[in-house]
Amino acid sequence: MLKCRVNGKRYIGKSNNIKRRLNEHKNCKSFAPLICKAIAKYGWDAFDKTVLEFCPVEELDEKEMHYIAELKPEYNLAKGGSGPTRVSPSPETREILREAAKKQWADEKYLKLIKKPIICIDTGEIFDSVKSAAAKVGVSYGCISMALNGKMKTAGGYRWAYLNPDDKVSEETSKSLGKANRGKKQSAEQIEKRATKLRGKSNPHLNHYKPVFCVETGRIFASVKIAAESVGITPCFLSKVLHGIGKTAGGYHWKFAKEVFYMTEKEVYDLFVKTGAIMHGHFALTGGDHSARYIEKFRVLERPPYTARLCRAIAEHFKDAQIETVVGPATGGIILAHETAFSLGTRAIFTERVDGKMTFRRGFTLHEGERVLIVEDVVTTGGSVREVIDVVKQFGGVPVAVSMLVDRSGGKVNFGDVPSYALLHMNVETYKPEDCPLCKEGVPLTKRGSTGKK
Ligand SMILES: [Zn+2]
Repeated sequence: MLKCRVNGKRYIGKSNNIKRRLNEHKNCKSFAPLICKAIAKYGWDAFDKTVLEFCPVEELDEKEMHYIAELKPEYNLAKGGSGPTRVSPSPETREILREAAKKQWADEKYLKLIKKPIICIDTGEIFDSVKSAAAKVGVSYGCISMALNGKMKTAGGYRWAYLNPDDKVSEETSKSLGKANRGKKQSAEQIEKRATKLRGKSNPHLNHYKPVFCVETGRIFASVKIAAESVGITPCFLSKVLHGIGKTAGGYHWKFAKEVFYMTEKEVYDLFVKTGAIMHGHFALTGGDHSARYIEKFRVLERPPYTARLCRAIAEHFKDAQIETVVGPATGGIILAHETAFSLGTRAIFTERVDGKMTFRRGFTLHEGERVLIVEDVVTTGGSVREVIDVVKQFGGVPVAVSMLVDRSGGKVNFGDVPSYALLHMNVETYKPEDCPLCKEGVPLTKRGSTGKK
């Protein structure tokens, strides 16, 4: 008898090998669901173990039934007696079990019960049952079952998952199915199919781990599996959403990464407005001019997922430009260079001012002819960027291009022989205070934090 010291509830069982039986309980491998859960909840040490009686094996069933009837233990579901005693079955019994398993396997009702739709994570193909998937790939039921339950990584060269995460087959079922399937021979056709697959490695999905993009967090994962793990869901569930079945998985929207690198100007604009980076009001700019729109880039840069997404769009534009290093001017440029370089797989360094003069510090250097992408957040006149270009040239690098989040000059800014690219073009009108239409209307100035920009 197991008795929980926390709540006083009991469980009564029988065995011809107590040590083994207790170990099964301890490791939550017993088939008694209530006690199993309780042990998982309270811990093995929270249970007192008592031997109620020693008796001959033949009397075990009877004794168990007696104690359960007498003591009414809370954790027992059955009346006892009928459960497995773990006595090795005789050859006759084994034959009967085998027949029963065969019958079960042929029983349509039973098949329907265990028929769970599954998905091949690599191909995205959905099967109505493990059996049909096994037949298609030419492996055994058990093989796919093991892959589904995480005991093997792949079956037939593919990764598998239940379409519905709750559809895990219990160990009991999978054991009995294993029995039923034992000795079953694969058809010559199935064997050939599988052999072809392995021989020519003809399965294009084997090495094809498609990167996955999480819309809300902006993160990119190398594979469906890694993405699923990051939010604690099953790969199949995520795969479903990726293939358009269902809208969210784990509370997020997902896409295959290659579909989402590009951003339209409207998407960029919406992002800036949504985060409050683009503000509307009546602003006095640092230079003395007035404007109805103001951009505080740090409303975006303070949110890593958005920054990551913007930089990925930049990286996508320059992915074939053989960039070796990304350089940005401090402060916003540090963040952008870092994220863009992360996406491009290059180095990220930054320039900063020493006594008002832009330069590299901290031991940053460029080798002769190093291909450099310059990144900047919001560009109005392009003064800082021009200084960065000069620093890059001075250090022997080649400024391949300038990339901006926002070109707010309305396309007027240019950097001579260095081409430029902006995710968003805006034309922000500025006025001398005496000509300002908002001042004329008597609109009060909108307060804002200092940008530190000169
Ligand atoms: Zn004004």
